[in-house]
Amino acid sequence: MNRLGQGEFEIIEQLKARCESSPVVRLGIGDDCAILQLPPGELLLTTTDMLIESIHFRRDWTDFLSLGRKSAAVNLSDLAAMGALPRALFLAVAIPADLTAADLDLFFTGFLEVCHASKAVLAGGDTCSSKGGVSICVTALGTAPETAVVRRTGAHPGDGIYVTGTLGDSALALQWLMTGRTPPPELLKRHLEPTARVEVGRRLGTAGVPTAMIDISDGLLADLGHILTASRVGACIEIDRLPLSPALRAVGDDDHLLYDRALTGGEDYELLFTAPPEAQGEIDRIATDVDLPITRVGTISETCGEVTLTHAGSLCPIPQHKGYKHFSAGA
Ligand SMILES: [Mg+2]
Repeated sequence: MNRLGQGEFEIIEQLKARCESSPVVRLGIGDDCAILQLPPGELLLTTTDMLIESIHFRRDWTDFLSLGRKSAAVNLSDLAAMGALPRALFLAVAIPADLTAADLDLFFTGFLEVCHASKAVLAGGDTCSSKGGVSICVTALGTAPETAVVRRTGAHPGDGIYVTGTLGDSALALQWLMTGRTPPPELLKRHLEPTARVEVGRRLGTAGVPTAMIDISDGLLADLGHILTASRVGACIEIDRLPLSPALRAVGDDDHLLYDRALTGGEDYELLFTAPPEAQGEIDRIATDVDLPITRVGTISETCGEVTLTHAGSLCPIPQHKGYKHFSAGA
């Protein structure tokens, strides 16, 4: 027992009552294992991610509703990045003594909201007490027909490089939080409650459009690097094409700083993919259908691992720090 006034079994019982049913989850919370039944002919895709207090979040910067939403979204984002349809999530939480029942309720509410929005269900997990901070570990399971699964390995020279949504919003919010400033609300929301691009990822995969895809969690250059390594190709990025939100532009930083953030800022949770030129029409149709901009930002080239940046047709230097580091790592 702790400040929650309830033990592990009460917490699990309350959570079980709030879980939805799903045709894929034959048995959810309540036995030693969950039982899942895959749709015939589909593959199971599985991902897991931890969110650790003081490493990935701070309780003085986030509320528990946002934290619950983000915990689900960052995992769903990995499923989106491979074209999978989310099916079930498993949630393990280590709960310190100073957490209240209201905090925990808000956390589960946020988590279940995001599950519901992507039609996935919470199917199991674990709780225990923590002598340190809050630790959250989520495992997300999705399914897809083999033809819809997109890996990092298929980018070819001449393919366009595309990103969904806008870049750099979350990084600006984090930078302002770290320097004691209050970020603009739209940008803070992008940091605290990122949206997993589940529908667009699934649509792209089903249409067979991307040759390679990844979600942007560590920054465009860092995550593009994973595609380049896996596909043994290079890339040219036209930085004046990088999609920046009106809220980010309104902050008034100079272009150099804005583009630097869009290239290296982390936690955008947008999708980055490559596709051949003939896919442009289908990409435009999907962007319209899901009401989300998809922007071509560059081209895949032949030299393995080589990245060039251009601005208005001229070469630019690569930013010194290529990827995002969480705030505890000295970023
Ligand atoms: Mg990822």
